[in-house]
Amino acid sequence: MRVARTWCAAIALTVASSGLLSAQSAPAPTSTRKLLAIFAHPDDETMAGPLLARYARQPGVSVSLVIATNGENGMMPFSKIAAGAELAAVRIKEAACAAKALGTGAPILLGFPDGGFSQSRVLADVAARLEQTIKDIGPDAIVTWGPEGGYGHPDHRLISALVTQIAQTAAITSNVLYASLPKSGLRPELLASLKFPSPFRPTADEHLNVRIAYTADDAARARQALGCHASQFTPATMDQLTSLTQEINRNTAFLRTWNGGPARTDVFVK
Ligand SMILES: [Zn+2]
Repeated sequence: MRVARTWCAAIALTVASSGLLSAQSAPAPTSTRKLLAIFAHPDDETMAGPLLARYARQPGVSVSLVIATNGENGMMPFSKIAAGAELAAVRIKEAACAAKALGTGAPILLGFPDGGFSQSRVLADVAARLEQTIKDIGPDAIVTWGPEGGYGHPDHRLISALVTQIAQTAAITSNVLYASLPKSGLRPELLASLKFPSPFRPTADEHLNVRIAYTADDAARARQALGCHASQFTPATMDQLTSLTQEINRNTAFLRTWNGGPARTDVFVK
């Protein structure tokens, strides 16, 4: 499971570019627009790291990060940090470090049990808290996992389902985007070598209607953010993940809107 999360994180570092250019008007420069990323664990933001860095540096945009758990069960043998409160304390600091590197606001960690979403009572509490948090922030766009959970993780899948459930009630913005791994970036040999423990298939490129180019500097800040998660990755693994993400993605973030729609090159402009 840890391996899967590791690989997934790496994959997220880059997201391929191809230019789906559509007739889009330039975003209004005056009003502040809010981008909210919602994930399950500290380090999940790696999936959208370059994207978050790209918007965090854009004038007139604020980027927030909500993480449902403290990741207290993400114990990695190499780190020798016990699962539970000790690891949670470390990962809370790592999340803050990563957010700072990306340029987002301080992360909002909701503290729900890592791996505990399958309990109905917990799931109900997560749903209620997420809805209230989203309303409090009032985002113009939300980035989260798709139904495949980024790379299959059950917690990721449930966060995606909850955010989508809230969006489809029209209680919040309908502008919800799934950060996805493009099939074009995962050649069969590479996909087979990753050995995801949970069921996972990359998303066909034809469904990835939102493609956002980012710069080498955005990718570098995402790499810096990944470096914060020292309880989860060795330096060698971080380098491996960086190479992998560079292979899968080509300086473009691939996303898709939960409810379909035209091709876009911006999270805000429809
Ligand atoms: Zn995760």
